[in-house]
Amino acid sequence: MDLDNRTAVVTGAATGIGRAIALELAEKGANVVVGDVTEEPTLEWEGDQTTVERVRAVGPEARFVETDVSDSDDATVLVDSAASEFGGVDILVNNAGVTTDGAVDETSLEEWRRVQSVNVDGIYHCSRAAAPHLRENDSGRIINIASQRGLLGGATDRKAAYCASKGAAVQLSRQMAVDYGPDSITVNAICPGPVESNMTDLAEEETFIRDNIVTPYIGRPEDIGHVAAFLASDEARYITGHALVVDGGYLVT
Ligand code: NAD
Repeated sequence: MDLDNRTAVVTGAATGIGRAIALELAEKGANVVVGDVTEEPTLEWEGDQTTVERVRAVGPEARFVETDVSDSDDATVLVDSAASEFGGVDILVNNAGVTTDGAVDETSLEEWRRVQSVNVDGIYHCSRAAAPHLRENDSGRIINIASQRGLLGGATDRKAAYCASKGAAVQLSRQMAVDYGPDSITVNAICPGPVESNMTDLAEEETFIRDNIVTPYIGRPEDIGHVAAFLASDEARYITGHALVVDGGYLVT
């Protein structure tokens, strides 16, 4: 898998899964533009270096653009600045996401809208800005980080807003695959199961997770990074409209 001379825009890549995706794309040779509300990594094992510093240490170029993906102007600046600086955009990874707990009647309208505006509107804003750039080459890629919870309900907690947003991310990926396929742009969703990051509280959930996955280990951000790099590659050019579950077998038990 060779992503030399490609430019990837990865949202929410300061930390966690997005950071691992950015680093994996860089390992394969892609320049990376990080769009996030902050540049600071937050997981202990990530150390002090920002994603941009880590990508540069690997070899390719990288930039940080302060971006709130729920804001359409921010999304446009992110994508257009990547295109003007690196001569185009080849790969868009819509990874930025937020979550909230609660059944519908426990979720305020404000909280509901916050989750949809980042997790769903964010994909819309960034994809809308990126489509004209992706059309300019013959191997455009959009990868949307949805969730296993876009396919099933939250078993340990009530996550109405989050599950709805991730279901939308899966279905939007399918429709975008149809719409952009003729332009040689593939669009796929990755549906991670539990992955060690800020979003998964292992102190609370580890026993439940271990009882519900079939692998003896819980997923790490790199597990999603590898899959994203594959979907971004030429080798995956015939895969589109797919919701790829990466969950240690949670869904099959
Ligand atoms: P995380 O909270 O560690 O990281 C999320 C990143 O998104 C952070 O860098 C944050 O600053 C950024 N972000 C938040 N709001 C933003 C906004 N409005 N604009 C731009 N950036 C914003 O979470 P993570 O576990 O790395 O999750 C990444 C993605 O993977 C999310 O879409 C999440 O829903 C999905 N996911 C995670 C898991 C899991 O177990 N960790 C499972 C399934 C899906």
